[in-house]
Amino acid sequence: MADNKKFKKRYCKYCEAKIDHIDYKDLSLLKLSLSERFKIMPRRLTGNCKNHQEMVTVAIKRARHTALIPYIVDRKNVVENPFEILK
Ligand SMILES: [Zn+2]
Repeated sequence: MADNKKFKKRYCKYCEAKIDHIDYKDLSLLKLSLSERFKIMPRRLTGNCKNHQEMVTVAIKRARHTALIPYIVDRKNVVENPFEILK
């Protein structure tokens, strides 16, 4: 499978870091599963395990609700590093 070389090494980053609970306020953790447009990355790309993907999904939705991260990103506002604007 030559096409899948980019995602060949897939492993759960949260399992590797031995994280039991993902806090919605911990943006550095949520970053791992967010695309540049703040969309939740699917498990088939990130390689997260099912447990952690579900935790991350809940955490990201909570973070959106509390306005820590945006729901949508306008086309105009897309920048090189979107996480810069959080700080
Ligand atoms: Zn995991």
